Amino acid sequence: MSETAEMKVDPTRASALISQLQGVKDKIAAVAKGRPVRLVAVSKLKPANDILALHEAPETKHLHFGENYSQELTQKAELLPRTIQWHFIGGLQSKHTKNLAKIPNLFCISSIDTLKKAELLDKYRGDQIAAATNPDIFGKIKVHVQVNTSGEESKSGCAPGQETVKLCKKIENECPNLELLGLMTIGAIARSRETTPENENEDFQVLREQRDLVRKELGLGEERLLELSMGMSEDFEGAIAMGSDEVRVGSTIFGARGPKSEAVVVVA
Ligand SMILES: *Cc1c(COP(=O)(O)O)cnc(C)c1O
Repeated sequence: MSETAEMKVDPTRASALISQLQGVKDKIAAVAKGRPVRLVAVSKLKPANDILALHEAPETKHLHFGENYSQELTQKAELLPRTIQWHFIGGLQSKHTKNLAKIPNLFCISSIDTLKKAELLDKYRGDQIAAATNPDIFGKIKVHVQVNTSGEESKSGCAPGQETVKLCKKIENECPNLELLGLMTIGAIARSRETTPENENEDFQVLREQRDLVRKELGLGEERLLELSMGMSEDFEGAIAMGSDEVRVGSTIFGARGPKSEAVVVVA
């Protein structure tokens, strides 16, 4: 891929990124105590060069990257190697489902929160699968249902309880092109700041309860453990102590983010 080959990776920047990512991985390992926890490196508003650095470095060979904006993800996915596993973690809008469904190496969409968005995503992915000449390239899209555990109006997500259960049921039973992987929450910032492995975060408690409720209501067997995506830079260690299977860490790896208007997809 010529663009990737030409993309510059600054060695000083690369070594800083590698050591920051390694630092997060070491902290995860210390709390996870052997349990597998996926680290999604949240690269939103950071250039593709940074992603390439972490993906290609022999020390990290990092695979999972998370993005919040549909257009930015589409652009980066076109530029960067297909071996990357993309996660869409931002606020999902119905109008974005068609383009997201076209990304072959999209690993997971973590922010499904309405029946309509599930339906659209299922339909568009179905179109891609039907048209694909190589069935190995386009598979089901894994999804997390986002739960608004803190009840804040500014946060997206299903309300805990029947709204969450109903959407999970729909995905499980009526969306053949989606795979329900688990539940995701962001949680209240104030609670994040206070989260430590000793001080349990209420949002994470709610997500755990919702996971148990969904498994029960859907009658999922022992082998079907729904995962929890919870924990960000401020609170990932506490989240893992509470059973998180996936943490989404951005600023601790890539540094503080500037305004969206100043973000560039590729640094020349
Ligand atoms: C930006 C973002 C993150 C990463 O946040 P940091 O505090 O930079 O680690 C994680 N999850 C979601 C949904 C985000 O939007």
